Amino acid sequence: MTAAHGHDGPSTPVEQHQSDILAAITPLSPVSVALADAEGCVLAEDVTAAVSLPSFDNSGMDGYAVLSKDTIHSSERAPTTLQVTSEIAAGDTGAHRISPGTASKILTGARMPDGADAVVQVEWTDGGTDRVQVYRPVEPGNAVRYAGGDATEGETLLPAGVRMRPMQIAVAASAGRQAVLVRPRPRVVVLSTGNELTEPGTPLVPGQIWDSNSYMLAAAAREAGAVASRHSGVPDDPSGVLPVLEEQLDAADLLITTGGVSMGGEHDVVKAALQRLGTVTFRKVAMQPGMPQGFGTIGVGEKRVPIFTLPGNPVSAYVSFQLFVRPAIAALQGADDLALRSERATLTGPVRSPGGRRSYLRAVLDGDGAVTALSGQGSHQIAALGRANALVVVPEADTQLPAGTTVEVVVLP
Ligand code: AMP
Ligand code: MG
Repeated sequence: MTAAHGHDGPSTPVEQHQSDILAAITPLSPVSVALADAEGCVLAEDVTAAVSLPSFDNSGMDGYAVLSKDTIHSSERAPTTLQVTSEIAAGDTGAHRISPGTASKILTGARMPDGADAVVQVEWTDGGTDRVQVYRPVEPGNAVRYAGGDATEGETLLPAGVRMRPMQIAVAASAGRQAVLVRPRPRVVVLSTGNELTEPGTPLVPGQIWDSNSYMLAAAAREAGAVASRHSGVPDDPSGVLPVLEEQLDAADLLITTGGVSMGGEHDVVKAALQRLGTVTFRKVAMQPGMPQGFGTIGVGEKRVPIFTLPGNPVSAYVSFQLFVRPAIAALQGADDLALRSERATLTGPVRSPGGRRSYLRAVLDGDGAVTALSGQGSHQIAALGRANALVVVPEADTQLPAGTTVEVVVLP
């Protein structure tokens, strides 16, 4: 990354920071996981159909397997009567056969008997047991699911790069796969720094706050498909930060710190500790909230773990996560499906923004394409964050936008 290291250097556009991050991410190595554990993982191989799907001709409905020719003259007034010679349930692997004038009672998913070329659904019959009255003629193939009608043997059902969601898990199981080669869910470790932090649930002494960022970021990482753990309350002591980070390296595919990176001040312990390593770049990104951003890698020997140093203010940390960390989690899995969805909406009231920086205002987007910026846009104001479902994007060049302006809105997950 090439960027200003000082406090006064030019600031980096949001897209530039995003692309620098993605360029530095190496996807995780593929591993084989049991299908039951594959949800959220990204396929690193094609899944092909081991057999045709379905693998045998079967009934698409509950009814009677027949020879369609036998039914041509059927009507409500003059039904055709057929002899029922067998009953075939789903899972019956025996060989059944019908001959002209006979039918098999058959259930959905059961294998078609030899000699039959159609199924009459039970609704078109009297539902008889030994004999059945058929009220309507059926075409050959009626209610029959033919072998290979879903997929042919060897066909690619899921290409590499696809995220295993419930639908894809179903496809892999239907293709007979017990395990799949995937890039696993990245392991994300979140560290919050600050002498002022205490755990929610403990009493507050004036001067302290409850740590919210580590909970928020671990939850956001999980929501983005990672496995996350949190490590809170790293003290503001530069010599203490690196050992804690190093301790977490083995358990992490990606590290996130919050706090300790403001633009200046001797309490910027994360910045102080990591700047010395020379592998993490600190820059000002032209956005609000979330201007001070740090990204790079740390590690010992071969293993390099991407690290994000996010600002301490909760709203800044949240917005930074969604813009920068989320796509990086996808990139670790060799996927590009985690960028947040944007849409156009109309401002219900005027908004303000600093010049030269892109603002992401916490807002409520309603179903009719109207968006309302919330009051309380300070980057420490978590109450408005809790009410938001979207971020209004105010371009760098704009310092105010009147009500009625069409704006880009990032929809929050
Ligand atoms: P810093 O980046 O450490 O200067 O912190 C900026 C602001 O964010 C300060 O008001 C901190 O108290 C607050 N802050 C830092 N870390 C957290 C955290 N984990 N949870 C909530 N607020 C925090
Ligand atoms: Mg701090």
